[in-house]
Amino acid sequence: PANGDPILVVRDLHKHFGGIKATNGVNLEVNRREIAGLIGPNGSGKSTLFSLVSGTVSPDSGQIRFDGHEIAGRNAHVVARLGLARTFQIPALFDNMTVTENLLAAAAQAHWQGARERAAETLSLLRLEHVADNRASDLSGGQQKLLEFGRAVMRQASLVLLDEVTAGVHPNIRKIILEAITQLRGRGITFLIIEHDMEMVRSVCDRIIVMDSGRVVTSGTFNDIVRNSEVMQTYLGR
Ligand code: ADP
Ligand code: MG
Repeated sequence: PANGDPILVVRDLHKHFGGIKATNGVNLEVNRREIAGLIGPNGSGKSTLFSLVSGTVSPDSGQIRFDGHEIAGRNAHVVARLGLARTFQIPALFDNMTVTENLLAAAAQAHWQGARERAAETLSLLRLEHVADNRASDLSGGQQKLLEFGRAVMRQASLVLLDEVTAGVHPNIRKIILEAITQLRGRGITFLIIEHDMEMVRSVCDRIIVMDSGRVVTSGTFNDIVRNSEVMQTYLGR
């Protein structure tokens, strides 16, 4: 069945910052090998959900089951070791290190002998070979987004969370990212991606999850979502 054995299950997840309920009872599932899109207006709690799932922020209450493990409130390093990787909306790179060094620093184990080979593959996948020895701070904004994505690829994760990785990047770079996501899914990796570009969502996502005011309000295929006129008006501004 489509919903059998999801890789990620979130139940009634709450997190407040002062008086703001950033997540206010989130419920969702992500199926294995799925590319799921997460959409919703600014401030609806998407990035906070990623921080809660990846362990950089602790929930007030609720459950998060990843690949059979209960991970709510677990340390980010523990969650990463279980096979979950995320990118940040603003790339979290080592500015003074080269592109290759940034990739190696993200490898699952610092002295893993396969890391160099994997870095070379990642450079090729993301068409970054020509800037491999450049410092991260000398890259264009779009190349920095590619490198942020590449660092998640280096983790050899089973679930990758991408936070607006195509926002503001040139269409050529967006295409590279889209093709890489599709190729990696073919190797068995599951994706949950926060994405504002509806053309990107349409072309890459199997299913779309819509958030508003700290909750999941609906989910379905792109066509399901487009047919839901309330969602279109409220969340997509059409
Ligand atoms: P989205 O990614 O959907 O735009 P966020 O998860 O970033 O939404 O934010 C949800 C709400 O929580 C917003 O009102 C935001 O200002 C607030 N928020 C998020 N992170 C913090 C934080 N670390 N401290 C205070 N408020 C936060
Ligand atoms: Mg965000």
